[in-house]
Amino acid sequence: MLRSTLLALSRNDKAEHIARNNPAARTLVNRFVAGNEVADAVRTCAELSAAGLLATVDYLGEDTTDLAMAKRTAAAYIEFLVALGEAGLTQRVEVSIKLTALGLTLPADGTRIAKELAGEICAKAAEMGTTVTVDMEDHTTTDSTLEILRDLREDFPSTGAVLQAYLHRSQADCVDLSYPGSRIRLVKGAYREPASVAFQDKHQVDVSYVRCMAVLLAGSGFPMFATHDPRLIEIAGSLVVKSGREQGTYEYQMLLGVRPDEQLRLAAAGEQVRVYVPFGDQWYGYLMRRLAERPANLGLLARSLTSKG
Ligand SMILES: Cc1cc2nc3c(=O)[nH]c(=O)nc-3n(C[C@H](O)[C@H](O)[C@H](O)COP(=O)(O)OP(=O)(O)OC[C@H]3O[C@@H](n4cnc5c(N)ncnc54)[C@H](O)[C@@H]3O)c2cc1C
Repeated sequence: MLRSTLLALSRNDKAEHIARNNPAARTLVNRFVAGNEVADAVRTCAELSAAGLLATVDYLGEDTTDLAMAKRTAAAYIEFLVALGEAGLTQRVEVSIKLTALGLTLPADGTRIAKELAGEICAKAAEMGTTVTVDMEDHTTTDSTLEILRDLREDFPSTGAVLQAYLHRSQADCVDLSYPGSRIRLVKGAYREPASVAFQDKHQVDVSYVRCMAVLLAGSGFPMFATHDPRLIEIAGSLVVKSGREQGTYEYQMLLGVRPDEQLRLAAAGEQVRVYVPFGDQWYGYLMRRLAERPANLGLLARSLTSKG
């Protein structure tokens, strides 16, 4: 119920206006978002790198309604990749892109536009010495996203995929994508999906996550376990040992500001850990989705919004 309310608020203009105009809300934003500008994202990546963590950077901007917006998003990524190169961080940092932000759902030629713009970002990333992961969005885009991923991998084989454990189809997708050089991020899944395509029960999602982990570790790809769930991280550790894989042949991923101590603990234990770093001024929807996942953070939001500071 609370989760649905927060997800509804994430798309409410009035609530967004209130949050944006309260300077104290910035405290909360700063925990989960690097900042509005390219320089903020580069600085956050440098700090993470100094702490022994890798990063993947997401330019915030979803509901793309026209070609110009999609092109602006691609330009923001290219500007970021150039700045990353200048900062000497491309060995430690990659980018995560959303195909809908690049025009996938535009009525005319969306698939072609998203593929072309994603290709431009992949080309710049390759030129700068890094790579791209294609985030997965709601189930209506799964097939087109995987199709574009396959095309991108022809020229840029290290382009990362994302599979969502809550989808019934994902175990089979894990098998399909487990080939040498294939980078696959496994997540639980962040969208509200119907029972016809996705497990609704939290426990079933976790069971599916474990099954997918086992498939990925048994395969020849490079699994990226993106979860904050302590139980799943523990199970990942046992499955890694069972699979005989060495550290560096898989990685853990977490969001900026979520369980930072655990990120450092894993890195100190020799694990490869990558932090997902969002930046850009479209932070409102992203922040509300993080709150929906963890209503415990609501106290923090309430204090921010009611403060006069
Ligand atoms: C790097 C990364 C990339 C992602 N990319 C995508 C994507 O492309 N597509 C997509 O659909 N989703 C993506 N997600 C989101 C993902 O699908 C989940 O919605 C999100 O990660 C929450 O699920 P969880 O696995 O962390 O576990 P949850 O079920 O949310 O939480 C399980 C447990 O983890 C711990 N925990 C969780 N959050 C916190 C917190 N804030 N503080 C302390 N403990 C906490 C608690 O013990 C909690 O009980 C991504 C997530 C990450 C980390």
